[in-house]
Amino acid sequence: MRSRPSICHRSLHEDRLFTRLRKLDVAEAPRPKLQRPGDVLVHIERVGVCGSDVHYYLHGRIGDQLVQYPATVGHECAGTVVELGPAVRGLRVGDRVAVEPAFVCGECDQCRAGRENTCRKLKFMGCPNEEAGAVAEYRLLPAQNCVPVPAALDLDLAALVEPLAVGLHAVRLAALRPGAKLAILGAGPIGLSVLLCAKGSGPCTPMLPT
Ligand SMILES: [Zn+2]
Ligand SMILES: [Zn+2]
Repeated sequence: MRSRPSICHRSLHEDRLFTRLRKLDVAEAPRPKLQRPGDVLVHIERVGVCGSDVHYYLHGRIGDQLVQYPATVGHECAGTVVELGPAVRGLRVGDRVAVEPAFVCGECDQCRAGRENTCRKLKFMGCPNEEAGAVAEYRLLPAQNCVPVPAALDLDLAALVEPLAVGLHAVRLAALRPGAKLAILGAGPIGLSVLLCAKGSGPCTPMLPT
C-alpha cells in the first residue's frame, strides 16, 4: 500500500483502523512523539499485505488471536526516518529503512541466548493486543528495528525484506546440498521468497507443485 505524499509538518496523522469485520476506516490521531531515547519516528511509505492481515480482515482472528476493534494492522513496511531519540546511533534523519516488525525485550533468557525470535515478551506489529500496525503515516519504532537500505533500493522492495527473510530462514534451515531437489508447497509471496533464496543459495532444482 502506498501512503499519500509526505505531510511531515502536520501535528495529526492518519491511521488505518479495522473498525469491524471487513471494514477498514481512516482515523486521525496525534502524530507520535518520541518517548524512549532509543526510539525513531518513521514516515511509513510502503506496507505489504500479508496473509495474516487477510485473515484478520476476513475472519477477525487467527486461531486464538482475536482482533479487538478498533485495531491497526500491517507489518511488512518501509519508510523514511523523520526523528531520532538522543540515544540512537547509526541512523540519520532521511535514512530510508526496512522495518523488522518483531519487537523484543533484549533481556530475557531467549534474547540473551541469541534467540530473539522466541523472546518471552515479543510483540509483533499489527498483531492483536501486541504492537500498533504499520498501516499509518507515522510509527514510533525502536532504532534496532530499523535497517537502513541502499539509496538505490526502491521502497517497494524494502517492504519485501520481511517476507524475503522468512524464505531465507527456511532455506538456511533446509541446509540444501549442491544439486538438491526441493519442493516448495505454495507459490504465494512466501513460497516465491523461498524460491528466490533457494536459487540464490547455489545450484538446486526447486519445484513448485501447482
Ligand atoms: Zn507477514
Ligand atoms: Zn526477550
